[in-house]
Amino acid sequence: MDMVIKEIKDEAIAGNIPIVLDDTIDFIRKFIEEQEIKNILEIGTAVGYSAIMMASLNDDIRVITIERDEERYFKALENIKKVGLEDRITLIYKDALDVSLEGPFDMIFLDAAKSQNIKFFNKFGLALKPHGFIITDNLNFHGYVDKDPEEIESKNIRGIVKKTQEFKQFLIENERYETMFYDIGDGISISEKVV
Ligand code: SAM
Repeated sequence: MDMVIKEIKDEAIAGNIPIVLDDTIDFIRKFIEEQEIKNILEIGTAVGYSAIMMASLNDDIRVITIERDEERYFKALENIKKVGLEDRITLIYKDALDVSLEGPFDMIFLDAAKSQNIKFFNKFGLALKPHGFIITDNLNFHGYVDKDPEEIESKNIRGIVKKTQEFKQFLIENERYETMFYDIGDGISISEKVV
């Protein structure tokens, strides 16, 4: 299976599909094992790489993953079949903001449109079990987040940076969760639901 996963990863990188960095997924996999996490919700499948990396850890893990891009969704379906994980990874082809799920999930991995993180967090946090975790990726947004947004030329990147800074502040101030920030990969946070 490792060879097939490597092919899926290489193909994604060659096709400029944004997938989780090695350090980040290694850290998340270790966390899943340590916390004995079983039910995972992922927002942002792309071609299924991170879902496969999480579900392949052990046979008890189940992942529901949501993707709104048609081409990526079909590629993810194909990839998940290739590794034989279609029984444990459920793909949903929809905008995540239009999806209702009851859960309860042990962990949620937020890896979709960065500008919508607060909405995803509030919406899917309701389906998280008490003391479950929400992991969010790309909080450094390729190193831009530490810069003054006014110094960033691209309007699009400037917008994402502002939203990411707002999201980090939202996490810091959110009393229902205890959040730790890690300078791993592109910057991630782990928020534990405490209330
Ligand atoms: N988690 C994947 C991995 O590491 O293999 C990478 C996900 S990629 C960074 C983000 C994906 O989220 C894109 O494929 C994009 O189409 C999808 N996306 C963005 N906003 C979304 C939304 N509102 N609902 C569902 N999917 C969304």
